[in-house]
Amino acid sequence: MVTTEKGKQPCDKVIDYSSVAVYCSGITKTYGSGHEVVHALNGISLEIYPGELMMLVGPSGCGKTTLISIMAGILDQDDGECLVFGHNYRQMREVEKTRYRGDTIGFVFQAYNLIPTLTAAENVAVPLLIRGMKRKEAIEKARETLNNVGLADRAKALPADLSGGQQQRVAIARSLVHDPKLIVCDEPTSALDHETGYKVMELLGFVAVCSGRSLVIVTHDARIFSFADRIARMDDGKIIGVANSPDKLTKK
Ligand code: ADP
Ligand code: MG
Repeated sequence: MVTTEKGKQPCDKVIDYSSVAVYCSGITKTYGSGHEVVHALNGISLEIYPGELMMLVGPSGCGKTTLISIMAGILDQDDGECLVFGHNYRQMREVEKTRYRGDTIGFVFQAYNLIPTLTAAENVAVPLLIRGMKRKEAIEKARETLNNVGLADRAKALPADLSGGQQQRVAIARSLVHDPKLIVCDEPTSALDHETGYKVMELLGFVAVCSGRSLVIVTHDARIFSFADRIARMDDGKIIGVANSPDKLTKK
């Protein structure tokens, strides 16, 4: 008799969860209670594969940020399963979860979220310092990564002295510096003008996408859909369609 990898129930299909970057099944999430309850996610099932760039699109309030926060292990779902490279956050103790997240995930946010009192290189070094790397080594690696995003000459600049596009490139370098297997980006281009947003997306496409590493990018920005391998459309806490290309999405 075959069983699932989790060994709970017999079934006729074995899924190798570790070969799926993100496996979501039946995820629900509500905020608040009573009259104030918000059903943010109403049964999300989605698989994202290693090496894939998946975009999540949908109207404001449909649950995109909630979903990627669950994928990134910074928010717990109410029900359903979320496995990242076969690892189930729910089966980890808090300290293990923090370590796993620190090793495996990189984040890019709309608002960059750089620490204003730290230089670009120091900001990029943060994920390495958190993981216990010595400062000198961490700064050296951060400088290398800044070089990869075309900002070697701004390593000593404070965020306030950088343009929006440059700050987002620093944030991308910070998301990459520890070589994570999954990068989640929440509206990474929406604070940027068209040309800068496109360049930032090109950079993410070139630098971040590599064999085995997956990207999940939440966006409203139709101009960057062409960078996706697949696009999942969400509405009202559900996935309402997954398409392989922007052309297919617009035809739906
Ligand atoms: P999106 O990113 O697609 O705009 P969100 O995931 O942020 O959507 O939000 C989904 C729904 O959950 C929205 O109705 C939002 O108002 C609600 N929501 C999000 N975060 C909270 C929270 N911390 N407390 C209460 N409601 C929330
Ligand atoms: Mg959001």
